[in-house]
Parts: sequence; C-alpha cells; structure tokens
Amino acid sequence: MIASRFKIFLLTLFAHTSLALALPQNDPVPGGLLVLAMPSADISQVTFQGIRVPIVAENQQQYALVGLSLDTTPGKNQLELISASGDKTQYTFEVHAKKYTEQRLVIKDQRKVDPTAEDMIRIRAEQLRMDRARKTWSDTPTHFNFTQPVEGRVSSIFGLRRFFNNQPRKPHAGLDLAANEGTPIQAVESGTVIESGDFFFSGNMIYIDHGQGLISLYAHLHEIKVKTGDKIQRGQVIGSVGQSGRVTGPHLHLGVIINQTLVDPVLFLPPQTDQKDHS
Ligand SMILES: [Zn+2]
Repeated sequence: MIASRFKIFLLTLFAHTSLALALPQNDPVPGGLLVLAMPSADISQVTFQGIRVPIVAENQQQYALVGLSLDTTPGKNQLELISASGDKTQYTFEVHAKKYTEQRLVIKDQRKVDPTAEDMIRIRAEQLRMDRARKTWSDTPTHFNFTQPVEGRVSSIFGLRRFFNNQPRKPHAGLDLAANEGTPIQAVESGTVIESGDFFFSGNMIYIDHGQGLISLYAHLHEIKVKTGDKIQRGQVIGSVGQSGRVTGPHLHLGVIINQTLVDPVLFLPPQTDQKDHS
C-alpha cells in the first residue's frame, strides 16, 4: 500500500520538475522543503509535527509544501493528511542527511556577541515578537512566484554552522545578499506586513505574511519604508540594504518561514541565486 503510493508520488514529482511549475524546489533535507503531490483531491489539511502546512494548486494538482527545520532527524518522518470528512492518514517520507559547513566571523561590536543583562531583557522581548510573527497563519491563498529581493551577490548561504568571535551560535537561518548600503529591497511576493522595527541582532527588520504560514523576513536594513498592516505587492520596494544589527558589512539577510520553520530561501528564488559565491 505504502510502496504503491510512494511510486505514484515519485511519478508526479518527476512531472512537476520537468514542467517547471511555479513551485519551490523539492529538497527534503534538514533546512529544506518537501513538495508533495497530494495523493487525492479529498485532502483538506496537512500537518507536520502538529503544525499546518500550506496546500497550493498548480495545473489541477494540489501540493503540500512542508518546511523541514535544520534539526529535523534524517530518515523516515511522517505527515498527517486530513480529509474533508475528517479522516486522518499517516504519510511516511524520507528526509535525507545534509552536511552544512562551518563559518567563522569576526564581529567588532563585542556586545552583539556577549549582550549585557540589559540587552538580554530587550532580546527576550524581541524574541516574543519574532515568535508571534513566525507562527502567523492566515487563510489567504498563497503564491510562490518569488522575485529576487535585491541585486546583489550571495555572501553567505543558508545553514552554515556559525561561530562569532570563536563562540558557537545558532546556524545561519537565511540567505545573505551583499549590496551597497541604500540599494532598494523588493518584496519577494505579495502579502501583508505583520511586524517591523529595530531588533538587537537583526537590526531593522520586516516580516511579510504571504498566507498559509508562508512568511518572508528582511533584516539589517538601512531604511524601512513600510509599516505593520500595509498590503504589499510582489516587487514593491519595502526598504533599503543596510548594516544595522550584528553584521560584518552591508547586506540583506532574507529569511523564509514555512510551517513556522526557517528554510533555505534559495529553494524559492529564481534560478540565478544558485550561482553561489563563496568568497
Ligand atoms: Zn544572514
């Protein structure tokens, strides 16, 4: 039963790749994404680890898009598929291991590496706002036709295991695009601004909700040109590149959240972003 379902899934997946639909890339690894063709049209909800994932339709086929956090255990993982009548089915899929390399950075402002007790109060309050933004769900139909947010070179890829001034910190949960300070930043898709402001580590930051738990975030901005509640069009200028927060130079840090999890933005962006620059 499971084997035959899996076969159907593979066939659909190949079809999807060759047609180059407006869907993100299927890359079921920690920090990646599972793009799953729904085995039946009857499925109304899909959850992963108890969290709802977006379902999008493309050429009469429905796909569930499942964000896989960097700490997902490789091997068999399970989704729950819920039909319109409430029947629940488990769906097993394989997460492949991926090795992320190390990155060591020198930060001149030591306080951004070892915050003071006072800074910690601010950081905790900001964490609550960031968590609230990350957990946003709106029923608006979502779109994945991402545009490039900034003309810049990739200066840091997703998932690097980071050390700041030789101290281990959380892995890099976004994509860095280096550009001159003041370079305009465009929203990757249409949506609504759900959070914006000056954050201790991320500097000036904007969160945009694109519907069904898909959220993009833009950090280290020089200038923010939108405010919470604003409706944004795909490609609209929302701010400019800066070096606010914990940085080594001017760049845009782009984050993509799906089912409350930060995943690799490259999977959503137009192909040219794949030309990685490791300098
Ligand atoms: Zn970054």
